[in-house]
Amino acid sequence: MGHAGVAEPPSWWTRGRDRVWLPYAQMKTAAPPLPVAATRGSRIVLADGRELVDGVASWWTACHGYNHPHIRMAAARQLETMPHVMLGGLLHEPAARLATRLAALLPGDLGRVFFSDSGSVAVEVAMKMAVQFWINSGVRGRTKFVAFRGGYHGDTTATMAVCDPDDGMHRLFKGLLPEHLITDLPRDEATTAALDRLLGERAEEIAGILVEPLVQGAGGMLFHDAAVLARLRELADTHGTLLIFDEVFTGFGRTGAMFACAPAGQGGAGVVPDIVTLGKALSGGTLPLAATVASERVFQAFWSDDPMAALMHGPTFMGNPLACAAANASLDLFEREPRLDQVKAIEAQMADQLALCRDLPDIVDVRVRGAIGVVELDSIDIPALKARFVEEGVYVRPFGKIVYLTPAFTIGEDDLSRLTGAIVNVLGSR
Ligand SMILES: *Cc1c(COP(=O)(O)O)cnc(C)c1O
Repeated sequence: MGHAGVAEPPSWWTRGRDRVWLPYAQMKTAAPPLPVAATRGSRIVLADGRELVDGVASWWTACHGYNHPHIRMAAARQLETMPHVMLGGLLHEPAARLATRLAALLPGDLGRVFFSDSGSVAVEVAMKMAVQFWINSGVRGRTKFVAFRGGYHGDTTATMAVCDPDDGMHRLFKGLLPEHLITDLPRDEATTAALDRLLGERAEEIAGILVEPLVQGAGGMLFHDAAVLARLRELADTHGTLLIFDEVFTGFGRTGAMFACAPAGQGGAGVVPDIVTLGKALSGGTLPLAATVASERVFQAFWSDDPMAALMHGPTFMGNPLACAAANASLDLFEREPRLDQVKAIEAQMADQLALCRDLPDIVDVRVRGAIGVVELDSIDIPALKARFVEEGVYVRPFGKIVYLTPAFTIGEDDLSRLTGAIVNVLGSR
């Protein structure tokens, strides 16, 4: 560990680094990307042989760790029979089985599954579904969404417009983005009354309320409790609008429950939305796959003799058989292995070990929920911290004012200690 820059980078890296436009990166000033050769469990193997303990799990997707043999074998088997076929007029076993299993896992009658290939598109589809739900129901003019400060729902045009207005890209793309109603989560009496007023005054324009339940992820890893979601359900019902949970981040165990909308007895919030979106960990972090799942009531508004009442959407690679096979294998692992217990153990260990950060200077908050550990700072030098983490042999990517961990649920106690230890060391030696 700690020999950064000693070995020559591989030639593919030297030739290709100026060709690949990287995400969320000022290409001129950002540190060059690390050449990665392989992944293994909760490790990232660099081209020079160094191994980094991964604290990010590739944007929270690799919930079973990288290269899980069960998922690998399922994808390999599927590759032999049918890597891809379109869902236009056709249906294959991996998609049918996955939709059946998702419907059985989700609460209430959430059970009509529309597949896509990214979380952003799953959210866009949910928004289209909600708008058309009203049109199909004979109600005109409901095209706006209520969404919340601190929220993140994706990078496409429709979804940027429902992200946090300050951290999102609202200002930059003003004129392109439709304006929605972005407000505070109903955390207390005042914010609940304000939301109630807003819904009352604008009811005729509002297609739905869109929220990341329990944890607002990419907007800053902000937590709220189940009572907030119960209030949203009640307000949506009172004002006759739809409630959409964006579980692209929270789905598949990340908060300690299989879904944030799971029953309270299963660790969830016990609040059932009308539409839920899934992505990220859906395929166990192996292939792009997302889904928008509607309740029977929402689906029934599209069930008609009128062809114009159909949901007019269809991503080319929707329901890709390889991705669905991987997702089915991922669900097998949730059934066969004690994933949610592992999340509980990770939660306890992170709470214990990250607590040491509380005594360091400029720390605003330390919070842990499920397999999400967050240290929030007053101010933060992100490039310097990123480099220091690599020196410590870990892969941790701070953003905004937070340093966070969202490890694989299969991470060993020692590797998790390496991650928390590196955070304590790096933040303690600023
Ligand atoms: C990541 C994320 C998205 C966007 O998903 P992509 O696959 O990046 O398009 C949407 N909503 C939430 C809550 C997310 O965390």
